[in-house]
Amino acid sequence: MKTCIIFFVAALIQAEGLPPWNNGAPVDKHGRFTNLDGSTPSRGFRDFLRWRIIESPRARKATAGERPSPRVDNNGSSLRSNNTQTTVTWIGHATVFIQVSGLNILIDPNFSSKLGLAGKRRVPLGVAPEDLPPIDVVVISHSHYDHLDKDTILKLSPSIQYFVPKGLKRFFTNMGREKSEEFDWGQKSEVSGVTFHFLPLQHWSRRSLTDMNKSLWGSWLIQAGETKIFFAGDTGYFTGFRSIGEVFPGITVAFLPIGAYEPRWFMKEQHMDPEEALQAFQDLKAHVLIPIHWGTFKVTDEPLDEPPRRLHEAAETMGISPDRLKVLKIGETLTLPVHP
Ligand code: ZN
Ligand code: ZN
Repeated sequence: MKTCIIFFVAALIQAEGLPPWNNGAPVDKHGRFTNLDGSTPSRGFRDFLRWRIIESPRARKATAGERPSPRVDNNGSSLRSNNTQTTVTWIGHATVFIQVSGLNILIDPNFSSKLGLAGKRRVPLGVAPEDLPPIDVVVISHSHYDHLDKDTILKLSPSIQYFVPKGLKRFFTNMGREKSEEFDWGQKSEVSGVTFHFLPLQHWSRRSLTDMNKSLWGSWLIQAGETKIFFAGDTGYFTGFRSIGEVFPGITVAFLPIGAYEPRWFMKEQHMDPEEALQAFQDLKAHVLIPIHWGTFKVTDEPLDEPPRRLHEAAETMGISPDRLKVLKIGETLTLPVHP
């Protein structure tokens, strides 16, 4: 009996130290993934129509005169000659190119000139795909079209290692991408000394009428020694950021989405606004924030150039040093570490 109590107490202590995603992502009774708290966005097709048909045209008229993100010319030459420094480059929207420990990593690659209802790309790609160094690993955050673009994947080499959320491996093998590995939350894999951790976010997934939440969504933490690069593609604000910051202390840089937040009644559960992104940044206790997912495609109703303005204003209110916010231009490369 005494031994039993000791084991029970020991198990309790261990359970307390475990991250909330220890058992992977929750699945509902229909076999569809849910968020950590069991939720999925509650807005349905009727809400979508109300937004797109009634509200959106009015809101978009009011954003006339908006400007997309600034861009710098980047011909890729310094990236192609680099195999020692850690660099990060914003290609546009959620597409990020990372060099760490001699590895070339592409996250959520989308090189297409159009994006469904969002229409045409407002700023050319930051680096032309043919100017990038050979890619070793492609990492995908979830199945939505702006983050997983089939045409782009088909242009990339089939010999690349693809790391994808659970439920998407078949999608990749069907495209002839045999080196694809799928991840549940909490799972990790290593390539040349670089560890890729797949972690929770608050979002959802869908590519067709029948596949809602049948594949997982999440964030990536790419770790090479002391360097920890966190990437969130799409997410609502949730308590998981605090847990991630506790499990991975000293995050070097956090890529967080700051766009696609209006109207709030529809988007809040699935997309953070700039103020929430800053709260997530604080929860993560990351050193530097690089905002993404803004200024490239007209995905939602806020003006294209509003997110970074609100980010800076909120940082001032929250007492966050502007040196810790690195608002990159499309095409801009930052060498890490940055010491704000
Ligand atoms: Zn999404
Ligand atoms: Zn997105």
